[in-house]
Amino acid sequence: MRSAERSTKQQFRSARNGVIASLLRSVQLSRSELSEITGVSPAAITEVTQVLLQRGLLAELPSLSTNGRRGRPIVQLQLQASHCYFVGISVGESSMPMVLTNLRGEVVEHHNLPACKTPSDLVKAASNAFQKILISSRIPRSRIQGIGITISGIVDAKEGVCRYSAALNWRDVPVAQLIATALRIPAWIDNDANAIAMGERFFGKARDMEHFSSIVLGRTIGSAHFMHGMLYRGHTDSAGEIGHITVTPRGTLCRCGRRGCLDTIAGGFALRDAAKSAGLSIRTMRELEEMALHGNAKAVKLLRNAGTSLGIAVASLVHLNNPQCVLFMDFEGFGNGVFRTATRQAIENNVMARFLSATQVIFSDADRNLLPRSAASIAAFEYLNSL
Ligand SMILES: [Zn+2]
Repeated sequence: MRSAERSTKQQFRSARNGVIASLLRSVQLSRSELSEITGVSPAAITEVTQVLLQRGLLAELPSLSTNGRRGRPIVQLQLQASHCYFVGISVGESSMPMVLTNLRGEVVEHHNLPACKTPSDLVKAASNAFQKILISSRIPRSRIQGIGITISGIVDAKEGVCRYSAALNWRDVPVAQLIATALRIPAWIDNDANAIAMGERFFGKARDMEHFSSIVLGRTIGSAHFMHGMLYRGHTDSAGEIGHITVTPRGTLCRCGRRGCLDTIAGGFALRDAAKSAGLSIRTMRELEEMALHGNAKAVKLLRNAGTSLGIAVASLVHLNNPQCVLFMDFEGFGNGVFRTATRQAIENNVMARFLSATQVIFSDADRNLLPRSAASIAAFEYLNSL
């Protein structure tokens, strides 16, 4: 492709992304408002909106008011959320939720699939559930534009291959191709942390953010980074392995084979093991927090150490990437308590003063739909990117 042609295509994509993002935030906007918000020329807005109107993604809503100069009515544009749908599946070792979302990322169907052990279990369960969704939602198959799958582990998103999942014990499984063939719709995969960042960027708390990091607090800790509005994947697609930053040299052996990783102190697996070794009988992190709240010194120490280690690692991340926000997604159910307070304090104590007011720190409780909805957002992103 010639450079002029490439540049025109990039300009179109950038204008299209701006238009879609603006219309995801607002109920309706006129072309001139879109031009003002996105900084894109009126001519380019006309070109992009024409393509989106032809695809049925936008609708024109004639208004009775006029712009006052030529007396022409101002036409408002609205995203047609029910024009296309996306499936999302979160593949985990103990559960496998599946959702159907519309273009706004709103969940219209939710199914709980049995946990799978093998790739063929996954294909069978996904195929059955997809048929049920088609029947129960009454949405024509032609409107379902793709399926996104999240897997905890090392994922080659470009090739659609799960390179390694410790939880599932899978190696080099071409998940996207298997699912696309069985369901006869386009399929994409990514790891949990990247998918969540993508979902938050398009439909969630980071919709207005060009630079942010999301930190996934689960049995292990993951992270993903948006820079200039794009997910940063790194040279070998491995960016974001915050859980394996060394925080205690010669510390506890980690699942990665090294010692003293952040996961061994602040990950959900590690905290459960440490609580058990300390003689604390807990099933959830909320129970550990409640023990701490009632003055159990061992619980306080474990949660404080975990939060402090995490906060110090995140402070380094803030210095390196200068995000406008660090968004913690709490899958462990810590809630507001010692862990979050220690994390926040450690960030504040370990970043330079000029980052303090410039970096928003948000803790969010992850609901049951977050992962599959994020998975669906991968498909939404890829579909919109193909227009
Ligand atoms: Zn490690």
